[in-house]
Amino acid sequence: MKVGKCPICGGDTKEDIVEVQEIIEGEAYIISGVNAEVCVQCGERMYSLGEMRRIEKVREKIKNRMIEPMEVRRIAVVSL
Ligand SMILES: [Zn+2]
Repeated sequence: MKVGKCPICGGDTKEDIVEVQEIIEGEAYIISGVNAEVCVQCGERMYSLGEMRRIEKVREKIKNRMIEPMEVRRIAVVSL
């Protein structure tokens, strides 16, 4: 799938491999290696249907504790 144009701002997009942040049962997870189209102007990300299904499968694996993290990072929380 290639959209080519950002639906938010109309900017050009490029294919990239990104990290997706998810909160699953109150814990933060980063899913790496996700293929996305990223808007070069506003940073909006678009995922193909196939990639969204892959993310959903990983979410299920995380919920069922079927997947081990590759690494654990600290996340700093700040107040607005
Ligand atoms: Zn955009």
